[in-house]
Amino acid sequence: MSDCIFCKIAAGEIPAQKVFEDDSVIAFKDLSPKAPVHVLIVPKKHVQSVAHFTADDKDLAAHIFVDVVPKLATELGVADGGFRLVMNTGDDGGQTVNHLHVHLLGGRKMTWPPG
Ligand code: 5GP
Ligand code: ZN
Repeated sequence: MSDCIFCKIAAGEIPAQKVFEDDSVIAFKDLSPKAPVHVLIVPKKHVQSVAHFTADDKDLAAHIFVDVVPKLATELGVADGGFRLVMNTGDDGGQTVNHLHVHLLGGRKMTWPPG
């Protein structure tokens, strides 16, 4: 989408501190980190949220969770100590950027429940 900030980051039109990129996914540091490790894992394809995934996205979803998350958690040094994945979805879910993204947060002890 032309006015979508994460589409622009994926296209290289807006700079970001990239930590991973392949054909279908980009991951970069959150602009406003909430933990020592805070990266956003983003499909290059514009999908509004996890609620908008379709059957066509099965490979993409599996790629994010089977390939990219474990790889990044290891590379960022949080795989052993633990980390949190967050997908804020829709208004009640607190989603502020309407392009699907997985927050990977780590490097500190998380609390529960979230606010
Ligand atoms: P949400 O609130 O939708 O779950 O998460 C959006 C996240 O994107 C927020 O944590 C926010 O800090 C981050 N963010 C918003 N705009 C930018 C940007 O231009 N660059 C980067 N790196 N992160 C951004
Ligand atoms: Zn987008």
